[in-house]
Amino acid sequence: MSVDRPAVTVLASIAVIGLGAAAWLSRQPRFTAAGTPAPPQSTAVRNQAPTPPPQQPWRSPLERRCQPGSSALRLQVLQRLRQLRQNRVTVAIHPTNYGDRYSRDAFGQPLDPRPRLIVLHETVYGIGSAINTFVTPHPRDDDQVSYHALIGQDGTVVQVLDPEKRAFGAGNSAFNRSWVVTNPAVSGSVNNFALHVSLETPLDGEDADPGHSGYTAAQYDGLAALLADWMLRYRIPYQNITTHAYVDLGGERADPRSFDWAALEIRLQALGLLCGTGPRSLFRSPLS
Ligand SMILES: [Zn+2]
Repeated sequence: MSVDRPAVTVLASIAVIGLGAAAWLSRQPRFTAAGTPAPPQSTAVRNQAPTPPPQQPWRSPLERRCQPGSSALRLQVLQRLRQLRQNRVTVAIHPTNYGDRYSRDAFGQPLDPRPRLIVLHETVYGIGSAINTFVTPHPRDDDQVSYHALIGQDGTVVQVLDPEKRAFGAGNSAFNRSWVVTNPAVSGSVNNFALHVSLETPLDGEDADPGHSGYTAAQYDGLAALLADWMLRYRIPYQNITTHAYVDLGGERADPRSFDWAALEIRLQALGLLCGTGPRSLFRSPLS
């Protein structure tokens, strides 16, 4: 669920050129010092996934803040976190719309299947419409879509998919030039190491305009609680919270539009999740 936007960037793919050159080199005879032929290099070439095209590094709009934040906000978000853990709102989505995380890529290379990236989206249409899509069987690969969680305008966090599973939240995508290729016929994506969450779009955002009236305070509370849960469980640093607009390599996604990073920042600060640059700092947080 995202908004189409005219492609504004054409990224040259040097990966194809690189692989072509390597394949050419592999045809040259190669021998070891003992005179025995070395293993053909072409095997190694076939076993390596292509690298993503050039991509600007992600610069998180969230800033490192170690001073204590608002205690009222902290209590508010902690209450959301308790609700999230104790009274789960879940939906059973159709198995065609998600999969298992892969432990090897399409070229046989081992993968770390643990989530280490959080991607923010928006639904564009109401949350009910998104849920209907997820519970509907989609046999065609191109139609399959899912997120791990949705956040309604009233702040309710609907847990759609077990974070251990692989959601189909982004197509052709990468984060800081990292992706996983699970099908050699198509380009890579971040789905194997990502958690996807989508905010319900307000009514005035049901179009392709560049912005809308934004998300509610309750949605930011719910989002901060969910992010805290995931960050602590998987040791994900705040620098790895990004957007679909950033990871999308096709230049077509703009979501989440009108996202207020300052609203998220004050909540994560109140929980002590913005101090430090890496996962270790999370375990000094009061939530651990
Ligand atoms: Zn999206």
